[in-house]
Amino acid sequence: MRGHQLRDIRKLFQAHVAGMRTRGVELLSYQTPCCGGVMQTPAAREGEVRSICVTCIYCGSLFHRATTTTTVNTNEGIDHE
Ligand SMILES: [Zn+2]
Repeated sequence: MRGHQLRDIRKLFQAHVAGMRTRGVELLSYQTPCCGGVMQTPAAREGEVRSICVTCIYCGSLFHRATTTTTVNTNEGIDHE
């Protein structure tokens, strides 16, 4: 991914996070497994685990993220079937 694309993604992400904060959404901070950058995500609902692939806004790497109500677990790389 090109540098300017990552800059755009970072800007969009930061606007998205600021919007959620304004609406009072509970956010969890975590470090990305690829480069240690800090990102935020909304906490999952009680009893729910949200498991998805995410693009790092700092280096463009893909990683896997599992979010619960209180924790965020990440794994570098994507499993290939
Ligand atoms: Zn990264």
